[in-house]
Amino acid sequence: MATHYRTCHICEANCGVVIETQGRRVLSIKGDAENPLSRGHICPKATALADLQDDPDRLHKPVKRVGDAWVEIGWSEAYAEIAERVAGIRQAGGETAMYIGNPSAHNYSTAAQIPLLRKALESKANFSASSVDQVPHQLVQMWVYGHNAMFPVPDIDRTAHMVIIGGNPLASNGSVWTVPDVKKRILALQARGGRLTVIDPRRTETADIADLHHFIRPGSDPALLVALLLSLDEAGLVAPGRLGAMLAGWDTAWAALRRFDIEACAAACSIDAGDIRALAAALGDGTPAVVYGRIGVSTASFGTLNHWLIQLVNIATGNLDRVGGAMFTAPAVDLVSQTGSGTRGRFFSRVSGHPELLGELPAVAMAEEIATPGEGQVRALVTIAGNPVLSVPDGGALDTALETIDLLVCIDMYVTATSTHADYILPPCGPLEKDHYPLFLAPIAIRNFANYSPPVFEPAPDSRSDWEIIAELARAIAGACGQPLPNIVPPRETLDRMLRNSPRGLTLAEVEAHPHGLDLGALEPRLPDRLRTHDKMINCAPPELVDDLDRFGDWLAAAPEPGLVLIGRRHIRNNNSWLGNSRRLAKGPARCTLMIAPADAEARGIRDGAMVVVTSASGRVEVAAEITDTVMPGVVSMPHGFGHGRKGVKLSVARERPGASINDLTERSRIDPLSGNAALVGTPVSVESLTHAVAAE
Ligand code: SF4
Repeated sequence: MATHYRTCHICEANCGVVIETQGRRVLSIKGDAENPLSRGHICPKATALADLQDDPDRLHKPVKRVGDAWVEIGWSEAYAEIAERVAGIRQAGGETAMYIGNPSAHNYSTAAQIPLLRKALESKANFSASSVDQVPHQLVQMWVYGHNAMFPVPDIDRTAHMVIIGGNPLASNGSVWTVPDVKKRILALQARGGRLTVIDPRRTETADIADLHHFIRPGSDPALLVALLLSLDEAGLVAPGRLGAMLAGWDTAWAALRRFDIEACAAACSIDAGDIRALAAALGDGTPAVVYGRIGVSTASFGTLNHWLIQLVNIATGNLDRVGGAMFTAPAVDLVSQTGSGTRGRFFSRVSGHPELLGELPAVAMAEEIATPGEGQVRALVTIAGNPVLSVPDGGALDTALETIDLLVCIDMYVTATSTHADYILPPCGPLEKDHYPLFLAPIAIRNFANYSPPVFEPAPDSRSDWEIIAELARAIAGACGQPLPNIVPPRETLDRMLRNSPRGLTLAEVEAHPHGLDLGALEPRLPDRLRTHDKMINCAPPELVDDLDRFGDWLAAAPEPGLVLIGRRHIRNNNSWLGNSRRLAKGPARCTLMIAPADAEARGIRDGAMVVVTSASGRVEVAAEITDTVMPGVVSMPHGFGHGRKGVKLSVARERPGASINDLTERSRIDPLSGNAALVGTPVSVESLTHAVAAE
């Protein structure tokens, strides 16, 4: 028997785990009580590490599509054939593209290799899950603080009042916020006399333990945030304190905001003006407080505006860069000092003219870039740890587009709804056969920490880690296209160099000497030194955001559209589309249901548990109704990450209860125009009982 200390890399929480093994068998996975960040906490998903490792549905060798069959092929042969086809497509004028899935953010070792493949593909059509998730955060940070990676982190352990808008950390374990054991931290906040306020169109698991919950009309967050700012102003509670000396454009921002009216904003977001004034009074009472907005405010048509307004609230109340407020980390690998600040608008997508952001085009543009003929049409796509058919709005359109593409290469462990279209699938080794460092997650953690996890198992013979596949494929394509061959540096070397080059100057050996993780202390105020703006000031009034208030004003003046709107949701036993094949996680009551408020169900003659048809401008799905007063009237909710029943998918457990994909309903045309992020929140839908629909047909 052997004992291994490791970080669970499945979600952003980065919990420490103790894994007992015998030979290549996992005997147990438990929380590591000595891990300074997670203190013994794990969630049910930790067991999925073993399920993924041992899943009989996992691919172990590269496969090539021959007719309707998958045929095993050697690594070198696969690389050579792919490279030759890429070269041919490029010579014929076709564009090559890449899509990076969300697991890549949890996999430090691919970070240095992805640019090699991007360069070899010579593609500007780079897409990722970031633009169906968090790019509005990064765009605001780039404009306001001068670097896209300057994430303000809610200091939950020392705050007196936490306000969560559109986030459900009890299900997500924190998102763009590494906060293991968040429930205990919330209970500790309440035990010390503090409070939690949750604002969400659904009474979520987090709202259930909050001191106060307000329903909010989906997509109306700027109305709440503007009203909060105006209420602070009205009550004379605008008090940035020491931040005052660092604020550029503060008066410009206020001049732009004061044209709006608290009552009109309150009506638009469906929260009583008195409640908004009370919340402003609480936030402005001088005690440490923090407003945190997440997926519900990010994946909205005002996603970037929302995050700017959240910064303004935290600044106006003096809670930015304050203990107990929104703070900046000092991680062992400092990405802010070692990467560029970010770019926007250097080039534009071919079909719809979306501006590039951080080197990528919006994921909503993928289907049209593949399907629209003309110069620069995407004819080859490489996906890395992604399943965009289920993750990107209007997955049906992408599904159809992928049937027509000349070459699809998927670096993936499974035959999924996306890789079922592939010409080649290149499967990486199991999750316990590779090392882990929280390169992108430590910078968003509630404490400064470092933790290196060596592999639990030796890789199986002739297997490859993701980084090796990406690097080897990049070399093969570069060779076939007549480019200089890229220099491949093993990830451990890159990590050691990044640690040494960061202000803390640690080495990988020093980090490795702490198998439970190295605690580098609580977050500390870092401004103004941390600012990366040219004038070392906080840019409170980026012109694009001030201008976007005009769009908000137009929205405010328009009457709300009648009918139901759709929002997503997440469950603690799911993680996007990744974990549907773990039997331990899949068991229990069916989770892919359409939550609908009692009055909305009654008006449509819908019974609890009955199948309903949900229709949007993009598509139609059938799903069981779950009548509940936990959703706001006028709102229906479906989880994301389901829909594994598509043709060819080889996920035997997930196919037993495949559910429907919410992204067969979301729309490619609904975006935040500043960031290009998908507006998943508030998709207009109609819902009717399946029996009625069949009778009508
Ligand atoms: S909370 Fe996240 S990191 Fe922690 S055990 Fe669960 S999945 Fe793993």
